[in-house]
Amino acid sequence: MSTTAAPLAPQLDPYALAAELSGKHLIGGRLVASASGKTFDVVNPAKGEVMGRAGYGEAADVDAAVAAAVEAGVTWKALPARERGRLVAECGRLLTAHTEELARLVALETGKALRTESRVEAGVLADAFTFFGGLGGELKGETVPFNPKMLTLTVREPLGVVGAIIPWNVPMMLMALKIAPALVAGNTVVVKSAEEAPFAVLRACQIMAQVLPAGVLNILSGFGPECGAPLVAHPRVAKVTFTGSVETGRIVSRTAADKLIPVTLELGGKSPMIVMGDADLAAAVAGAVTGMRFTRQGQSCTAASRIFVHDSLHDAFVTALKAKVDAMVMGDPLDERTDIGTIVSPQQFDRVQGYIAEGKRTPGAAAHECSALPTDAALAKGLYVRPVIFTGMTNDSRLAREEIFGPVTCVIRFTEYEDVIAQANDSDFGLAATIWTRDLKTALDATQRLQAGLVQVNQNLVVQPNLSYGGVKSSGLGKEATLEAMLEHFTHKKTIMLNMA
Ligand code: ADP
Repeated sequence: MSTTAAPLAPQLDPYALAAELSGKHLIGGRLVASASGKTFDVVNPAKGEVMGRAGYGEAADVDAAVAAAVEAGVTWKALPARERGRLVAECGRLLTAHTEELARLVALETGKALRTESRVEAGVLADAFTFFGGLGGELKGETVPFNPKMLTLTVREPLGVVGAIIPWNVPMMLMALKIAPALVAGNTVVVKSAEEAPFAVLRACQIMAQVLPAGVLNILSGFGPECGAPLVAHPRVAKVTFTGSVETGRIVSRTAADKLIPVTLELGGKSPMIVMGDADLAAAVAGAVTGMRFTRQGQSCTAASRIFVHDSLHDAFVTALKAKVDAMVMGDPLDERTDIGTIVSPQQFDRVQGYIAEGKRTPGAAAHECSALPTDAALAKGLYVRPVIFTGMTNDSRLAREEIFGPVTCVIRFTEYEDVIAQANDSDFGLAATIWTRDLKTALDATQRLQAGLVQVNQNLVVQPNLSYGGVKSSGLGKEATLEAMLEHFTHKKTIMLNMA
């Protein structure tokens, strides 16, 4: 068990927590500094001030974390599967008790509003551990009717040390969907957090280290090339699960290919939302607000960033969508009144502004800027971007082809069903898609033909444990969040044959 003596008490002051966690990784059940002693600044994007310093993980720290994971793996994989599940479910219970502090900490480091986003994410974090914790008994094998004189069976075995590399947009949830199934399946884990959001995930792991044996779960903070790359390349890392950009996904995949180890990649999207002429307009508009994740400043892989609206509804849809987004409040992420917080970092801010400027220069396109920047002087340096709805943009424009990861969507007019299906599929990505219609035949046809890992009709729900998540085309490789994903991506099937002749 972990070395933590007294149970951790929830700490609702995120500044105090960031200070407590500053400069630290979690290796072998203990909070430790980087081997080099180096740290890097973590900035609160709503105020532009340093909120803490994270441990600057490098190859030496990766070595230490992987060594701890290798050592812990011996006894962890020997535990009965349901006992591992029980401990993982216990993590879910502990995380539930810490939901509010984790929500506040992630809001401070990412700029995501507490009420609309961060609290929801903290809830899913706990839920993922509860869900996967119940699945230990499902790590079943099979018997194979190969030969009556040969008892042939399969067993599921863990892969070993899993390297989990996560992004900053929903860091706790995406971490949970990777590590909960990996742990239940009997693997041990080294997480590499995103440089923009290292604290909430570290805190979550510290909380879990109270029940997990030391070394079963380790987490490092650091930058991609210095910390992520050596983790992927480490000879004792047997599997990498990654969520991030297509570009980095390719780098990770190349290294994994050299080592001949499996990878799971979740790489983003440019998700189409199709609003047919017979759709319920009010429901579709509400669905666009949720789907575009305006409350997360559009920083979502599944953001409905291409909204195809039938000519007959187009103008009414744009007016209603703008009115709804106008009514959303931009402000301090920690303020309960805030709907929309900030972009995560200055680099992302500049990128998003670049796309908006390009959109405004595009001939025939119009930018409808929504809501209003906060007026509070304390937020003057905050990375706030007003949501923008572009109209008159075509599906072949850069804004409709590239993942912006900001509060920017394109509403594209269409008239013919066949044409809109073709346009929706004319994308490098294939993560999620929705269709809004009252016609059952159209709905069913679209669900068959839209090229995406998740297709929804008349709704735009977010990812949840037990819903298979992952894309086709450049959106990634492999699925997450389900029992099948746990079996397929975190175990291998061993065949055992007993000669009875
Ligand atoms: P984004 O640009 O959206 O932040 P990235 O793909 O750069 O997406 O980052 C996702 C995660 O991948 C982060 O944790 C980041 O540090 C990590 N990362 C970046 N470069 C590499 C790399 N070369 N090898 C491994 N991990 C990396």
